[in-house]
Amino acid sequence: MERTLSIIKPDGVGKNIIGEVIKRFETNGIKIAAMKMIHLSKSQAQGFYAVHKERPFFDSLTDFMTSGPIVVMVLEGEDVIAKNRTLMGATNFKEAEEGTIRREYATDIEKNVVHGSDAPETAAFEIGYFFNELELHSR
Ligand code: ATP
Ligand code: MG
Repeated sequence: MERTLSIIKPDGVGKNIIGEVIKRFETNGIKIAAMKMIHLSKSQAQGFYAVHKERPFFDSLTDFMTSGPIVVMVLEGEDVIAKNRTLMGATNFKEAEEGTIRREYATDIEKNVVHGSDAPETAAFEIGYFFNELELHSR
């Protein structure tokens, strides 16, 4: 059993597709172990995306991530890190597979609706960034 962090970014929340995204997880055998809606401060967004702090898009990305509320979730299931990345589609929605969340709903390489951890180590850091052990519910 594996866990990963999923975020519905401010553009996804603004498009009223929270339910649509969650439905894709639940119909693909993924369980939600934790969930909340929050509005990040700039420094909280910078801390979350610290791995990208040298990238040219860091300032714009952290502005975008603080532009409205987000939904953060812990997903659980077999091979869920890779499964979630497959459901999300490529970072650039123009390169994303047909039927993926980003292909259907993203409008921009930055405003790409969802985030998903990319490895077990990043998943552990990202889950701990938003949730404590008491907030995680394995089912
Ligand atoms: P995420 O980490 O959000 O799940 P990802 O792993 O597919 O996305 P990363 O390379 O980790 O992509 O980039 C993090 C986020 O930074 C992207 O989801 C996107 O919002 C933004 N981003 C990535 N590349 C660019 C770029 N070239 N220009 C602008 N924004 C970008
Ligand atoms: Mg990433």
